Amino acid sequence: MSNIFPSKLVANLKDKFQFEERSFFENSSNKSNALIIVDIQNDFLPGGSLAVAGGDEVIPIINELQKEFELVVLTQDWHPKNHQSFVSSHESKRPFDKIELNGTEQVLWPNHCVQGTQGAKLSASLQTNKASLIIRKGMDPSIDSYSGFFDNGRLNSTGLAGYLIEKGIQKVSICGLAADFCVYFTAMDAIELGFEVEIIGNATKAINPIEYKEKLKIFKSNGGIERTFDQL
Ligand SMILES: [Zn+2]
Repeated sequence: MSNIFPSKLVANLKDKFQFEERSFFENSSNKSNALIIVDIQNDFLPGGSLAVAGGDEVIPIINELQKEFELVVLTQDWHPKNHQSFVSSHESKRPFDKIELNGTEQVLWPNHCVQGTQGAKLSASLQTNKASLIIRKGMDPSIDSYSGFFDNGRLNSTGLAGYLIEKGIQKVSICGLAADFCVYFTAMDAIELGFEVEIIGNATKAINPIEYKEKLKIFKSNGGIERTFDQL
């Protein structure tokens, strides 16, 4: 498993730099919260190669939701074209088959979010001006990266936790696509890292809504909160 111990890492960082003593957001009404917008990319939207049903419906909600936050971070799935999570990398396999990859269970996806392609671009409908950071993930061909914090084997960190900690963030709100994969795993890692975590239920859509219901139970039993954003 992992050589990374997130909670210890966070404790060390806080201790070393005394982040909690600082107030980067003194003038903000929502001073210690950040919004993480996961993978609003063309391939995950209707017409894309791995489209999430109704995925486009969350974009206007997310655009409005951003007004609640001082700190907005985007994630972007960003695969090399030979990525091992692609069904095309495995002869005689079919989309959505499962294999073992680097010690983790891997769903074999249709090719998606290949670096530099139209499908990998953030949706033109997504407002991105407020985003101070875009975290690209899934760049190592040998392992997938659902979470915005770590790859699936916890072999590498994206640096997102350190960024949020240095910004004084205590609570993260998560939205985007897809609910049952990248949103869920980002949320679970955030809990493990010691953040307060909420998923904005009406600003995310699942590939498999039934499986997502089960994952949401796990998320909640670990202290996660689901809320609805209804400020439209
Ligand atoms: Zn991917």
